[in-house]
Amino acid sequence: METKTSLLDNMIGVGDMVLLEPLNEDTFINNLKKRFDHSEIYTYIGSVVISLNPYRSLPIYSPEKVEEYRNRNFYELSPHIFALSDEAYRSLRDQDKDQCILITGESGAGKTEASKLVMSYVAAVCGKGAEVNQVKEQLLQSNPVLEAFGNAKTVRNDNSSRFGKYMDIEFDFKGDPLGGVISNYLLEKSRVVKQPRGERNFHIFYQILSGGSEDLLCKSYAYTVFLFQIIFTTDASIFVSLVCLLPFKLLLLIITIMRLKEICELTGIDQSVLERAFSFRTVEAKQEKVSTTLNVAQAYYARDALAKNLYSRLFSWLVTRINESIKTKVRKKVMGVLDIYGFEIFEENSFEQFIINYCNEKLQQIFIELTLKEEQEEYIREGIEWTHIEYFNNAIICDLIENNQTGILAMLDEECLRPGTVTDDTFLEKLNQICATHQHFESRMSKCSRFLNDTSLPHCCFRIQHYAGKVMYQVEGFVDKNNDLLYRDLSQAMWKANHSLIKDLFPEGNPAKINLKRPPTAGSQFKASVATLMKNLQTKNPNYIRCIKPNDKKAAHIFNDALVCHQVRYLGLLENVRVRRAGYAFRQPYEPCLERYKMLCKQTWPHWRGPARDGVKVLFNDLEIPEEEYSFGRSKIFIRNPRTLFKLEDLRKQR
Ligand code: ATP
Ligand code: MG
Repeated sequence: METKTSLLDNMIGVGDMVLLEPLNEDTFINNLKKRFDHSEIYTYIGSVVISLNPYRSLPIYSPEKVEEYRNRNFYELSPHIFALSDEAYRSLRDQDKDQCILITGESGAGKTEASKLVMSYVAAVCGKGAEVNQVKEQLLQSNPVLEAFGNAKTVRNDNSSRFGKYMDIEFDFKGDPLGGVISNYLLEKSRVVKQPRGERNFHIFYQILSGGSEDLLCKSYAYTVFLFQIIFTTDASIFVSLVCLLPFKLLLLIITIMRLKEICELTGIDQSVLERAFSFRTVEAKQEKVSTTLNVAQAYYARDALAKNLYSRLFSWLVTRINESIKTKVRKKVMGVLDIYGFEIFEENSFEQFIINYCNEKLQQIFIELTLKEEQEEYIREGIEWTHIEYFNNAIICDLIENNQTGILAMLDEECLRPGTVTDDTFLEKLNQICATHQHFESRMSKCSRFLNDTSLPHCCFRIQHYAGKVMYQVEGFVDKNNDLLYRDLSQAMWKANHSLIKDLFPEGNPAKINLKRPPTAGSQFKASVATLMKNLQTKNPNYIRCIKPNDKKAAHIFNDALVCHQVRYLGLLENVRVRRAGYAFRQPYEPCLERYKMLCKQTWPHWRGPARDGVKVLFNDLEIPEEEYSFGRSKIFIRNPRTLFKLEDLRKQR
């Protein structure tokens, strides 16, 4: 049987970065490159899987491969996403430990593909029978529906997920799947009304429009019905009913040319009501109602806000519907799969990047916490003395963002709720007052030097020193995006629709339930859902997949060192190896260790009679390995430095 030492094969680079010697950024990148050139896209850092996007289909996911990895120990075969999936599934089934699979990486790095590989592996190895198969089918079929509505072609990825997704797959005590729950995070709804150059709207628009022009579609209701039928019967007949059709058509009308008459015909809303809603804004305070006329820009703003809200609410409704169809009554064991946007550093970073990077900051925090916890627990289990590990704790950055009084999100909310003139600049002034002394914060009220040539925008920025690097955020749009305002006139108009779904999508439009308290801001909603997610993840055993994009051409066989290096840095991978090696770099059960190296010592070769643990002791004494280099655990030998292992390997080769 192969053992972990096959991970040391120098021809194709080391399979576990923990064994990389010497360890620095260059050797790390070179090792990845060497492996990539040999079509080895997976590499471990201990139990973490690094996955390089090959941008071509590799013959490594066949049913035979599934069988190969099934019920094998993690280090037995060459690194593979199936090894991680198998380990997680078996630990859930046999040891009753809830699992989560955390997949991170930048856009196009392969997160969604990885999540589908994990799900399909688990589906292949868990349970049998017609009923179980139906559950599996339903779970897997939720992907194409959500991708149709939530993914789009961007410059970075032809199938980019524009929302974060967390899915709990639930199993019974035997390990058969029962159902699941999906949570979605921060859909990029602005894409509905505006797409960056070279990018497209959500896939669903083109799927509907394929085969007919936009105009034709808008004119022909029957044609749309027909297309919807095709999409939903081929893609996901189980979940989506044609109920969806009407809001979608409505949306097209709103974002294309806003044909009021048709919208009214579709929804049954009185034309004068809708006209008024698009022309006036009513502000109610206590007993007073004040109406102001919207200018053209404000009317466009109102239109866009309605389209964005309609789409994102439709998306959430879709997730709810899917959840209804896959929900379980009893829930025994859970495997969560998180496919969420990685850290983003763009030329220009806005509210969205700020929110996404905050989420990654939180994920990094639990990564450190849980990795250290796991190390510690293993040491305790094995009776090994705990060595303190020095690491950067990013709690201070999380606090800068989320502290209830002085955090950036709290101040943004405060500014959004404050009466009087509120602008992005007043928000920045406030940040400046409160955060100026924070060691991870810097702000710039004047134009940023790197944008000085561009005079079209007032560039006021603040900079955060994230764990993954410094990011400059431009405050323009922060207040507006956080407010995420839909004028009440419009939600009230929508609520008057005689179509029950549309009515349901705008419950706040119900005059009987008028609530003068404003709805939670985008930032505070996100903060709350991140907190729930973190709580959920903390109760589970984590498994990490770190995805890396080898080039930005979406091309096979190209490995761009600089691009990879950038990602290795902000994924904190070297830090990860350091943490993993800080105590003991390598650990192995006594039996395979003795089996592999007993040839190096006369007393153990060929037949050692005593317990394997004692055999290893004799062996290590004989080879004069310094005592501080290793520790004897209950079931495993712990080796501090990878060099010791290389020495053993060299000696073996010399025999
Ligand atoms: P985003 O954040 O934009 O959603 P992502 O990390 O989810 O990006 P994917 O959509 O998973 O990226 O991957 C982008 C593309 O890369 C896929 O459409 C596919 O063509 C290719 N790809 C990713 N992983 C693999 C793989 N393991 N084998 C072959 N091709 C892959
Ligand atoms: Mg994706």
